[in-house]
Amino acid sequence: MTGRIKRKNILAMVELSPLQHDSPTVCPLCDRNIPKTQIDAHHLIPKSQRDTETVLLHRICHRQIHALFKETELARQFNTVDKLKSYEEILRFIHWIKQKPDDFFERSRKSHRLKSR
Ligand SMILES: [Zn+2]
Ligand SMILES: [Zn+2]
Repeated sequence: MTGRIKRKNILAMVELSPLQHDSPTVCPLCDRNIPKTQIDAHHLIPKSQRDTETVLLHRICHRQIHALFKETELARQFNTVDKLKSYEEILRFIHWIKQKPDDFFERSRKSHRLKSR
C-alpha cells in the first residue's frame, strides 16, 4: 500500500530535479555530442550584416569550416549549416569525423594531408 505512494513520490522528484542542465550540446554539422572542452561558437554570417547568429560546433568542425571557406564565401553562400553540409568537402569531413570520439581534436592535419596530395 505505502509502497505505491513512495514510488510516485520518487518519480515526481526525478521529474522536478533542477539539476538537468547538462543536457549535451549537439554539433549541427556532424550530429555528435560536443564535450564542454571542445565547444566553439561559429558566426554563420561573419561581421554580422544582421544580428550575429551563432551555432555551437566542435572546435575541429569549426576549424574545418574556416579552412575551406573564406569569410566572404561564408557570408554570401554558406551562411546556414544546411548549405555548409551541401558542400562535398564538408560531407567528406563529416564522414571522417563521425568515426572519431566526441572529444577528438587534432592540432594539425597538415603533415598527413599535404604528403598525400
Ligand atoms: Zn567561425
Ligand atoms: Zn562537430
